[in-house]
Amino acid sequence: MLDLDRCRQFDADDPLARFRDRFAAPEAGTIFLDANSVGAMPKDVPARAARLWQLWVEQRRRGWTVSDWLEKPSLLGASIAHLIGAQPDDVIVTDNTSINLFKLLSLALRLRPERKVVLTEPGNFPTDLFIAQGLARYLGGQVEVRAIDRRDALLDAIGADTAVVYLSHVDYRTSYRWDMVEVCRRARAAGALTLWDVSHAAGAIDVDLEGSGADLAVGCTYKYLCGGPGSPALLWIRKEHQKREWPTIAGWMGHADLFAFASDYEPAPGIMRQLTGTPAVIADELVAGAFDLWREVRKDELVAKHRSLSETLKALLEQECGDLGVAIDSPADYERQGGHVAFRHAHGGPVCEALLDAGVVGSFRKPGVVRFGLGPLYLLHEDCWIAAQRLKEILETETWRDPKYQKVSV
Ligand SMILES: *Cc1c(COP(=O)(O)O)cnc(C)c1O
Repeated sequence: MLDLDRCRQFDADDPLARFRDRFAAPEAGTIFLDANSVGAMPKDVPARAARLWQLWVEQRRRGWTVSDWLEKPSLLGASIAHLIGAQPDDVIVTDNTSINLFKLLSLALRLRPERKVVLTEPGNFPTDLFIAQGLARYLGGQVEVRAIDRRDALLDAIGADTAVVYLSHVDYRTSYRWDMVEVCRRARAAGALTLWDVSHAAGAIDVDLEGSGADLAVGCTYKYLCGGPGSPALLWIRKEHQKREWPTIAGWMGHADLFAFASDYEPAPGIMRQLTGTPAVIADELVAGAFDLWREVRKDELVAKHRSLSETLKALLEQECGDLGVAIDSPADYERQGGHVAFRHAHGGPVCEALLDAGVVGSFRKPGVVRFGLGPLYLLHEDCWIAAQRLKEILETETWRDPKYQKVSV
């Protein structure tokens, strides 16, 4: 049996507790469980915005020379490399996840020119699927996007025609986590590459790109990594692949000698050639608020906290709400679970709306899944307790039946 005292005991023993105060607190009484969509932002973000503004007023175009605006994509990448099992010089933060998917999926196809199949699952995130479908069309039907529903069947389908296994590490609805080591092992054995989208994993669970044998990866920074709405995305390439091809988008920021203003493209060494155009200086300045914190966070501590929050929340949902129609949809085994905990209820949409009104910010995905995203740097076990109590009350009193909760927001 878990009770409030036990939850508070977990919080008292939490080595990451010191970070909670460095994030902007939500409205009083609100429990923010939306890290799977957009994570909380650090308190010092407004001060960073003001500093940037001041720099602009004082320096104007010299801002480019006196500040690190052009280095930000690599500095930001280096700040979170340890969280995803990457070397600091193998990851950059640039563009958005969709664009980075296009850049790296097309690169994968050029690295395996004799192979024609992109292997994925129909439940992959929509933009991931659309980017692959659009790319196949652009290539005039030379490439086939093969989406296979059953996980074991997908692994068995990896073969001599597979160019790249193209998956999200974590399912955005159920939170199912692929065994990255196993998938990479199977892909490598067949001579195929792997491209991972770590959007629902980075900043929450143990991602080990290099150690797992992955080849390519992208991911959002506005979810568990707390970069703020629309913050630029991460892009990682295993070192051995970085120099083998031109980037698909050969922009001037990826040129070997940017300010030579040459007429002919020559790719920058390494990962930097994946930069395209002028970095999003303002967004980069704000995302640095969270990334400066991440530099102080050890991955093992992060993972231990996330595991503890997840197991506490799952146990509480079962203990407090199991008899009220709540069924956990996420894998019971933590090693197979991603950043959020998902549960089903016959009236999940209205329940999620009623939760929002009760100050519990989660999200709903059709057909019936409610998601609670667990941000390890700012959530307490006590928050899990409160969220479960409020859910229990909504279900017991059936407040979700109120007509105002029948229209479900996104
Ligand atoms: C959130 C998410 C995206 C979003 O991509 P954007 O280009 O940032 O809009 C892509 N893939 C996955 C798996 C996601 O969860």
